[in-house]
Amino acid sequence: MARFDGKIGLITGSASGIGKEIAIRFAAEGGTPVIADLNLEAAEATAAGIRATGADAFAVAMNVTDEAQVEKGVADVVAKYGKVDVLVSNAGIQIVKPLVDFPFADWKKLLSIHLDGAFLTTRACLKHMYAASYGRVIYMGSVHSKEASKLKAPYVTAKHGLLGLAKVLAKEGAEHNVTANVVCPGFVRTPLVDKQIPEQAQEFGITEEEVIKNIMLKDTVDGQFTTTDDVADAVLYFAAAKSNAMTGQSLVVSHGWFME
Ligand code: NAD
Repeated sequence: MARFDGKIGLITGSASGIGKEIAIRFAAEGGTPVIADLNLEAAEATAAGIRATGADAFAVAMNVTDEAQVEKGVADVVAKYGKVDVLVSNAGIQIVKPLVDFPFADWKKLLSIHLDGAFLTTRACLKHMYAASYGRVIYMGSVHSKEASKLKAPYVTAKHGLLGLAKVLAKEGAEHNVTANVVCPGFVRTPLVDKQIPEQAQEFGITEEEVIKNIMLKDTVDGQFTTTDDVADAVLYFAAAKSNAMTGQSLVVSHGWFME
């Protein structure tokens, strides 16, 4: 029997990058991933790719900052499958600019996707998890849940905030057999990171190679990028946990960039 046989996992932002890898791996181990993404076309393509392997997958259009869309997306999942066992709140963006002239609209947009998105998807899934007396919630944090970097004020703020949300949910969810944890990756080569390399090169007046070597991977133990597979391993570890012992925790997967 595979680890996720019969389990339904809603993964936000899973049309691309880290979320997509988590969805593929969840399906490969027997689960049904729900590909919830702003980009429905890409979500459908990811779901079709998973179904082509013989597994099940369901795509839903969901802007995680839109209360009505989140409620509808989760209701559609429950109408189809009767439950949601796992939530991976992963959708996110990055905007890099110095704090001194960070546009307020960008600040609000970033906080909304990371924090409102985590809150709204948690709240919508939790009702069903409580009814079933089972749930595994995993938030996509970052080394930036623990450390700061220049140019990333709202991102660092939001990623720190997710630790607080997970700890509250760990306490409130305990009596309902719902755990909450945070996975904190180092840099992973996804579209989110590839976009930042030229932007940071321009802001700091250095080459793209220097951004990678002297900023992104400078403090790793081996100069390596973390991979989507590495992050999926950690997420699925929390998702598969049999008992409620691991809750309210955060796990850093970053080639030693940050050590607790
Ligand atoms: P990505 O850009 O490859 O994928 C992000 C996905 O989120 C996209 O499919 C996008 O359409 C979706 N999305 C964006 N806004 C949305 C919204 N409002 N509603 C629903 N979906 C939305 O990025 P990624 O690198 O895979 O990032 C995934 C998560 O991992 C993010 O939370 C990010 O902060 C976090 N993270 C990434 C890295 C990294 O180095 N790539 C490191 C640490 C943490």
